[in-house]
Amino acid sequence: MTEEREEFPLDVLFVGAGPANLAGAIHLKRLADEKGLEIEIGLIEKGDQIGSHSLSGAILDPIALKELFPDYLERGCPVEETQCRDRFYYLTQNRKFEVPFTPKYMHNEECCVISLSRFTRWLGEIAEEMGINIFPGFAGTQVLFSEDNQSILGVATGDKGIDKNGNKKATFEPGVNLTARVTIFGEGSRGSLIRQVDEKMEIFSKAMPQVFETAVKEVIELPETSPFLTGDTTVLHTFGYPLGLDTKGGGFLYRMKDNRISLGLVVGLDYEDPLLEPYRMFLKYKRHPLIADIIQGGKVLQQGAKTLSIGGYYTMPVLSVGGALFVGDSAAMLNSQRLKGIHTAMKSGMLAAETVIEALEKDDFSQATLRAYDQKVMDSWIASERYEARNFSQALSRKGVVKFMHIGAQYFTKGRGLKDPLDIVEDCATLKKLPKDFDASALETEKPEYDGTLYLDKLTGVYLSGTQHLEDQPCHLIVHNTDICETLCYEEYRNPCTRFCPAQVYEMVEETPGERRLVLNPSNCLHCKTCEIKDPYKNITWTCPEGGGGPKYSIV
Ligand SMILES: Cc1cc2nc3c(=O)[nH]c(=O)nc-3n(C[C@H](O)[C@H](O)[C@H](O)COP(=O)(O)OP(=O)(O)OC[C@H]3O[C@@H](n4cnc5c(N)ncnc54)[C@H](O)[C@@H]3O)c2cc1C
Repeated sequence: MTEEREEFPLDVLFVGAGPANLAGAIHLKRLADEKGLEIEIGLIEKGDQIGSHSLSGAILDPIALKELFPDYLERGCPVEETQCRDRFYYLTQNRKFEVPFTPKYMHNEECCVISLSRFTRWLGEIAEEMGINIFPGFAGTQVLFSEDNQSILGVATGDKGIDKNGNKKATFEPGVNLTARVTIFGEGSRGSLIRQVDEKMEIFSKAMPQVFETAVKEVIELPETSPFLTGDTTVLHTFGYPLGLDTKGGGFLYRMKDNRISLGLVVGLDYEDPLLEPYRMFLKYKRHPLIADIIQGGKVLQQGAKTLSIGGYYTMPVLSVGGALFVGDSAAMLNSQRLKGIHTAMKSGMLAAETVIEALEKDDFSQATLRAYDQKVMDSWIASERYEARNFSQALSRKGVVKFMHIGAQYFTKGRGLKDPLDIVEDCATLKKLPKDFDASALETEKPEYDGTLYLDKLTGVYLSGTQHLEDQPCHLIVHNTDICETLCYEEYRNPCTRFCPAQVYEMVEETPGERRLVLNPSNCLHCKTCEIKDPYKNITWTCPEGGGGPKYSIV
């Protein structure tokens, strides 16, 4: 960090413009206005605009949105489809079997389909109109701690205009120290700042390990004559092919406005096969007859990828420390049983806002006061909804029939199941080593057929995500020891980073036989963070690149 940093004091700082923090900031401003409290609220977002880094399914349970804006439809909330009429299928390679009984938590009658990037942009406009200081293009890169590391003072944003060797360019602009009486961290899944908080304050030390899924998704425009656009079904969920029953995950297809659909495949990052490639699985999914029949003749408008924090109730960190609160996916608020985290993220942001108002009135931001937030979460519908799902993701990680025994038992015992709590291991620890005599020709050689319109290679996908980073900047992906990649990881796993990354950021090149070299393409990075989560040696750390870089999602 450079020395000539300006300090920008705020009352409340929100880090990340996802649904959690946007709902939180709006609710806080409204409560403060009602009480006549004049406060400066700031919100930073690493994307170049609000919504640029928002990617989701998404079926929205509007419960928290209705609490925030009972008149959300009249206010112009961008809803894609108001009718969620579900079908739930088990897929084999060529066949589909409709599941006759949809579990109660999979019902979506009260929900609607949204595009998260459009939704957060809409919330961002409201927040700005209310007088909240919104700073898109600013990445929080360092947490500012008190000298004794007992409380958080704010966040430093990254410098801009540094070249790849760390020298200042003509465009250099130093980052600022955003100090605040209270900072709300809503960085989403696998936050890079919350990791720093954990290193100093051990907020995850009593929780079960954080576990994740990764997803590739697209928005596809269908031909106007497509029967799916006028059919009765608007929401499809699938499990089985192409992942099989032993790998967690499944597919989704939702109808949107303007002849579009949202299509995605979610893959549990506790998979064991180092040769598995989530992106390739997504292509296989698109070729399944159920999906291929719907998308034929269509055109991919946008593609992207993101991880989801799915561990649930038992993986929640401590939610408050001196000077800071943690909301949304950063704090593992997602309900994996319902495949939903937007409503819980929003509600957590709103509860954080209510806690901040009390702290402002008392002028006390110590953990003793902010701890009220933990209690508010436990007393709210977030906790009761998620408590029933407390062992769900853990059950899905089991293999074969045992998985279904756990899920069945949980269904009839309000989540307790056969063992409570059901244990889980970190995703980086689940890959199985390849045999010593592994024959490289056994690697899947079948090249998926790309057609440039509907079946896309990774780089075309990156192009359709709008992703751009300045090339001449320090690499934001820290590979701590490339010797591990070039020798041990190659021998044991054949470099799974080259497969689990959906954006071809990692490539292993062999210039002369036996001489391998890791090549990074950080400008392709979609900010999904799969690499930091799944690397079996914990050899990769994801940090924020220069603010404003990354995807430019607008409809996913
Ligand atoms: C493929 C997929 C499908 C999903 N489907 C559904 C669904 O159907 N229904 C549902 O309810 N939920 C769904 N979810 C989950 C849902 O999207 C998340 O639970 C929700 O978005 C979490 O909100 P959040 O505000 O906590 O975080 P996010 O929405 O992840 O927002 C975090 C924001 O913080 C920014 N940020 C991160 N770090 C920094 C930093 N250091 N400095 C500045 N900015 C930063 C990010 O750029 C981002 O904009 C899905 C998720 C995925 C990936």
